[in-house]
Amino acid sequence: MNYEVGILGGGLAGLSLSIRLAEAGLSVALFEKQDYPFHRMCGEYLSLESLPYIKRLGVDPFAHGAQRIDELVLSAPSGRSLSQMLPLGGFGLSRYCLDSLLAERAKSLGVKLFTKTQVLDITSSEQHRHLIHTHNQGEVVVALAIGTHGKRSNIDAKLKRQFYSKNTPYMAVKHHIRIQNFPSNQIALHNFKDGYCGFSRVEDGLYCLCYLTTRQNQKAFKTIKNMEQNLLSQNPFLKQIFEEAEFVWDKPIVINEISFEKKTLHENSVLMCGDAVGMITPLCGNGMSMALHGSMLLADLLLAEQAQAGRVVFSHQLAQNYEKIWNKHFAMRLRVGRSIQRFFGSEKLSDYLVRFFSRTPMLGRQLIQLTHGEAF
Ligand SMILES: Cc1cc2nc3c(=O)[nH]c(=O)nc-3n(C[C@H](O)[C@H](O)[C@H](O)COP(=O)(O)OP(=O)(O)OC[C@H]3O[C@@H](n4cnc5c(N)ncnc54)[C@H](O)[C@@H]3O)c2cc1C
Repeated sequence: MNYEVGILGGGLAGLSLSIRLAEAGLSVALFEKQDYPFHRMCGEYLSLESLPYIKRLGVDPFAHGAQRIDELVLSAPSGRSLSQMLPLGGFGLSRYCLDSLLAERAKSLGVKLFTKTQVLDITSSEQHRHLIHTHNQGEVVVALAIGTHGKRSNIDAKLKRQFYSKNTPYMAVKHHIRIQNFPSNQIALHNFKDGYCGFSRVEDGLYCLCYLTTRQNQKAFKTIKNMEQNLLSQNPFLKQIFEEAEFVWDKPIVINEISFEKKTLHENSVLMCGDAVGMITPLCGNGMSMALHGSMLLADLLLAEQAQAGRVVFSHQLAQNYEKIWNKHFAMRLRVGRSIQRFFGSEKLSDYLVRFFSRTPMLGRQLIQLTHGEAF
């Protein structure tokens, strides 16, 4: 099995890249360890900056129940809160829906989707020849390999990426819920001690409730349920949600070891894209747009290379060009995201932030703009 490009991971970065490359006639294999459709960790609020690109990829989120969101509600653990119109706004659509629509589109363009296929390793047997070792498809040969395997994967361990060996304190939990009498145009960010919780509408009358906290918190409260009832519910907004909501899944999705470090853009001649390069803190609500935008920039570079040289392979020049353009668009956003993260989850600081931005809404809007980009 030989392909011009092998894409390792089928989230937004991998799927969108595969669509662009297949549209241009390249033979593309995409490896995804899960099977579409599936639920994954994500707050499911997507900034409007990426809507033109998603449509260009052949998917219209609003034809599948996406909900327009234009107002931010921010609350401190004490219940002090502010609401503010968002400069650009966004929409809510589950990843269950969005990713599977993109996967269908990729398949219709001839992308070979290896689903339920975990990549175990990537080796280079000779120049411009990568062997992708899988758990159930043997070895697949590709000329160019691209890592779109998300924030943390066994692939990072195999490639001995530095961040992988460092423990992080963060964990995340996600529910889908039904609840009456909540507006559908709001994204809420409710703080609690050592954590914050995003809450917004997706399709089919559902809401996504997704929070980031520390493993220490979970250890102290022993179970997720106990932590939600006794810690998150100290915030009156969250208390109301946990008391009134109908939880749709038997169990929430839970993940550990979330790292916000910037990572390398390539490793052993494998180019990286999406969260595999670096993840912005979820409170910015912009990771999905960054994954899509980064993938668009990489697709443009690869297609220019294809037009000029008649093939796409790894080269140091290509890697340098990618690094330059990636840093230009995203380095600042990651830095700002990391800096403001410390205000969230702290009872005093988040209370201060709510009071400060209530008095100076203009500054709040400017801060949001610093972590977002132009429509693309
Ligand atoms: C708690 C939390 C809340 C968030 N909320 C938001 C939000 O509201 N809005 C927003 O814009 N962003 C949000 N984000 C960020 C957003 O989810 C990510 O930035 C985005 O999903 C990155 O896309 P990706 O394609 O790079 O990675 P992913 O979507 O993670 O996709 C990676 C894929 O690779 C697959 N994979 C991994 N290893 C292998 C392997 N060895 N073999 C085969 N397949 C493999 C995985 O199964 C996965 O499908 C949030 C993140 C977190 C943690």
